[in-house]
Amino acid sequence: MAQTTPNHTQTVAGWAAHETSGEITPYTFKRRENGDTDVTIEILYCGICHTDLHQAKNDWGITTYPIVPGHEITGIITKVGKKVENFKVGDRAGIGCLAASCLDCEFCKSSQENYCDQLQFTYNGVFWDGSITYGGYSKMIVADYRYVVHVPESLPMDAAAPLLCAGITVFTPLKDHNLIESPRKKIGVVGLGGLGHVAVKFGKAFGHHVTVISTSPSKEKEARERLGADGFIVSSNPKQMEAGKRTLDFILDTVSADHGLGPILELLKVNGTMVIVGAPGKPLELPAFPLIFGKRTIKGGIIGGMKETQEMMDLCGKYNISCDIEVVKPDNINEAFNRLAKNDVKYRFVIDIAGNSSNL
Ligand code: NAP
Ligand code: ZN
Repeated sequence: MAQTTPNHTQTVAGWAAHETSGEITPYTFKRRENGDTDVTIEILYCGICHTDLHQAKNDWGITTYPIVPGHEITGIITKVGKKVENFKVGDRAGIGCLAASCLDCEFCKSSQENYCDQLQFTYNGVFWDGSITYGGYSKMIVADYRYVVHVPESLPMDAAAPLLCAGITVFTPLKDHNLIESPRKKIGVVGLGGLGHVAVKFGKAFGHHVTVISTSPSKEKEARERLGADGFIVSSNPKQMEAGKRTLDFILDTVSADHGLGPILELLKVNGTMVIVGAPGKPLELPAFPLIFGKRTIKGGIIGGMKETQEMMDLCGKYNISCDIEVVKPDNINEAFNRLAKNDVKYRFVIDIAGNSSNL
């Protein structure tokens, strides 16, 4: 059992990786008592983000083992501390990537906690009390209420879980570029995975023309028919890439693996912007010419702030947007990891942590 700080008295059953193979095995550990500003959540579902796989395998070289991944968490509040505002026992709650921040800097004060330089994540982070944070591949979590959101009644708890990371990560760049409920634009989504499929849904819900740029021709039919994509470009097809040049106002790149940025940048109109949210372990190739000839901008973004996360959840409730998921049992996490590594999921695995049916 893991060593913890003295007030970590609650024994929790979870699942962890212990070394770079990333293999997940049952793991029992301790969480802190519910403090004055904490809520305790019985976890029902947790999405499997590609970040979980990167971190379990130490792709980014920053993993502290054992690691209990999981930052797409939905569940029911079972305890509230006496200083908690806005939450009560029985509430449907969600936790994403953030566990703590300084609460005092310009970013925290404007609810861009995700850019606080003392930001700590839901797993593989260090909480205020010095303990290592453990994520949602576990039965229960204690979280400071300032990093918890409400899950609208209209959303199913399983299909809503991936919104907590995949959803907010693609929502924030759209919002930053005035693409929420704004005049129709042509937007591109690179990589039709967990993040990408939510981006397509948002793009369509907000009235845009959406083109998927993919390495998987097999995803075209569903992208068009089920997700409503207007265009589909196979990135390895030179004819399609040529025809797509200078057609898009905005591109969101969600790719988890190495890929060149030049050909994708060419798809942007002059003055277009591409936001990278995918996080491959190695540096990406970025040629100067597509940037300078098109006066194009390339930038990045990490998840989103707490206020925006609640705003996104509420909009998903309003538009009835949730994720296309495949629910797996905790015993099958390794199988899900292997399939995710092989790009074999449409479009997000969600772990049924509590062993419930999916109709909560
Ligand atoms: P995912 O479900 O595996 O989707 C990634 C997609 O990338 C795949 O579906 C695939 O789409 C495409 N792809 C895979 N291998 C490729 C290759 N070799 N070349 C080109 N495209 C390839 O992963 P995810 O959970 O959406 O996460 C995507 C990335 O975002 C990960 O790196 C993750 O760590 C990162 N992330 C970042 C943030 C943030 O805050 N910035 C938040 C969450 C996740 P096609 O089959 O359509 O090509
Ligand atoms: Zn994630």
